[in-house]
Amino acid sequence: MTRVVTRIPPSPTGRFHIGTARTALFNYLYARHNGGEIVFRSEDTDRTRSKKEFEDEIMEGLQWLGISWDSFSRQSERTERYQELLQKIVGEGKAYVSKEPGREDPNATVEVVRLKNPGRSVTFTDLIRGDITFDTTELGDFVIARSLTDALYHFAVVADDMDSGVTHVIRGEDHISNTPRQILIQEALGAPRPAYAHLPLIVDEKRAKLSKRSGATSVMDYRAEGFLPEGLVNYLALLGWNPGDDREYFSLAELVETFTLDGVQKGSAAWNREKLLSVNQHWMRALSDDDFIARGNLETPDAEKLRKTVPLLKERAKTFGEAREMLSGELSCLFSAPAPDRSRLIVKELPGRSGMTKTALESLCKAIEALPEGVSAEAVKEALMPLADAEEAKEKGGRGALLWPLRYTLSGADRSPDPFSLISILGPAEAISRVRKAIAILGE
Ligand code: GLU
Repeated sequence: MTRVVTRIPPSPTGRFHIGTARTALFNYLYARHNGGEIVFRSEDTDRTRSKKEFEDEIMEGLQWLGISWDSFSRQSERTERYQELLQKIVGEGKAYVSKEPGREDPNATVEVVRLKNPGRSVTFTDLIRGDITFDTTELGDFVIARSLTDALYHFAVVADDMDSGVTHVIRGEDHISNTPRQILIQEALGAPRPAYAHLPLIVDEKRAKLSKRSGATSVMDYRAEGFLPEGLVNYLALLGWNPGDDREYFSLAELVETFTLDGVQKGSAAWNREKLLSVNQHWMRALSDDDFIARGNLETPDAEKLRKTVPLLKERAKTFGEAREMLSGELSCLFSAPAPDRSRLIVKELPGRSGMTKTALESLCKAIEALPEGVSAEAVKEALMPLADAEEAKEKGGRGALLWPLRYTLSGADRSPDPFSLISILGPAEAISRVRKAIAILGE
């Protein structure tokens, strides 16, 4: 069998779209699975819309995702080669220069190049959809170049695929209707026909084509939001492909090992942000605590405390953006002592029981004093729960009467992790100093 060659041919006319990334990934996986190679081609024939910044963004994004390629070309740098090939097929009578009125200015004459269409039906085998037949007669002698020196898109694509020895064209299903045109050009050039595989469209949750209205569509927006490339790649692979069993978590290397085109579905693939978040959280949780901090660019004034906070973050955050928000929001109390409010401290006190919060905090303070530094949240819970469950506490309004003021004392906020986790991360010494401060406030 000849060596597999696939291609990643983005048009740099916009930001790095999720759909472009999914197609690039499938080309990467197919080539690597089969020990083949990948050509990257910047399809910048549209000179007005193509921008270097988009090309840079797409390449940077692919690298971030871990998708590599083996050779690089740019269509705008291959005009001489297109010219040579155009001249060749014109010389062979397979295409011709046609003098006709210009589209923009009907009074001017242009010399476009048209393909001599043999006018028959073309059948190609799509590896995902089976045989597809088109009657090409209605295409007529279609234009393949604006002039002998200015090839149009379809001609450039076919010339490039031929020159790079592309064996497999794996692309979005929106390109199916381009295929017969490209096959006719191939035949005129005497180029071998690659195998085709058209991937299902990605639709949003309302089954409309994925667009800005459906949420972020640029890979870079997901990076900025704090998704891991492992998470995004894993999720993108599942957009239209499945391994044939119920596994859902795959590293890039595992995907390379498992991926075949047999697992690609025909029906459209629905974007599901919840699923993306849960896959991403899986990969965040798989990181060591040190890697979690480094990869998430997490920063706090106290590195040791931050390390102790990682298990909480792994439990709660689905992106690093969320983790950062938690550190500056509901978890900020871990890094700077709160200023609890007297009226909030006693909010759970029963009528006629003034002073109960103070007594509760005093008994808790004693229990916390007995805890060693480095105590786990479970051990804190074991030590403090009996106090909260004691008969006397029950009478006074249940566990909440004790645990609420404790949690509020430690966090200064209505929403925060449970007091046991807080004490474990803060350490008993810091916890005691906060409890004493609250007792002082209550004694005022
Ligand atoms: N440049 C095209 C796109 O970005 C891909 C064309 C192809 O795969 O043949 O949609």
